[in-house]
Amino acid sequence: MPEGPEVEVLRREIEPELVGLQVVKIDRSNKALRFDVSYDEMNQLSQKTIKAVTRVGKVLIWRFNTAEELHFMLGMTGRFDWRYSDTAAEKHEHICFTLKKAQSVVHEQLVFVDPRRFGGWRYFARPTRPSVGVDGFGEQRCDLGWIDRLVASSRALKELLLDQTLVAGIGNIYASEICFQLGIHPALPGHQVPNSMLERLIPMIDAVLFDAASRGGSTLKDYRTPRGRIGRFPELAGVYGRAGSPCPRCQQSEIKRIFIGQRASFFCPQCQVMP
Ligand SMILES: [Zn+2]
Repeated sequence: MPEGPEVEVLRREIEPELVGLQVVKIDRSNKALRFDVSYDEMNQLSQKTIKAVTRVGKVLIWRFNTAEELHFMLGMTGRFDWRYSDTAAEKHEHICFTLKKAQSVVHEQLVFVDPRRFGGWRYFARPTRPSVGVDGFGEQRCDLGWIDRLVASSRALKELLLDQTLVAGIGNIYASEICFQLGIHPALPGHQVPNSMLERLIPMIDAVLFDAASRGGSTLKDYRTPRGRIGRFPELAGVYGRAGSPCPRCQQSEIKRIFIGQRASFFCPQCQVMP
């Protein structure tokens, strides 16, 4: 499932290619996505030019020259692909953007593919921040209101890290890695996280996310970018998906898998003890 780092990798790749392109037309399949745009809203964007591509948490945002915005949620299996002129429509293709450079007659097509349809898109007439908490790529250092909510909670730390209304952009892989890097048990309730650990948690979040983004994100669930690049994060993951393997830190204990809030969680019982 794409998390903040995969969306950031996508943004970095797609922004220089999309900025300055004008919408010729937008086509869509007749299958509903979890988040959807009406035909009326689609028509609003005809002839509009993409001005910037940004991201908040896991939401990718296209900004237009008119202040309108499209927000994309990749859900479980959403991704963008550039369609080359000689290829047919993909099986689970739901949106097709036909785009062109100003003054040019050459059309390019970017498609949104989503086999499981848990992703989708939204239209906004004005700049709108997605309704999520602080972005885990640095914002969480400046605006600390989320820490108050974390330490008031009896929920497991790893579950809190996945809560997009606290810090946006952390998914299941990186929540396990953040706990491992900190040497903290992922099931520790928020109100029991010591202050010394909170001081390390705040910068560790963006350290892990930026590091993953710089490696191209993860390759899990066939994730790849619109030009077909894949990430390298799993090669370097400390614990995620490594149940039964020796801990890369202590080399003594085996990585264990437990379920926290119905999500698989990986940790080292020796390096991440409950206080
Ligand atoms: Zn260990």
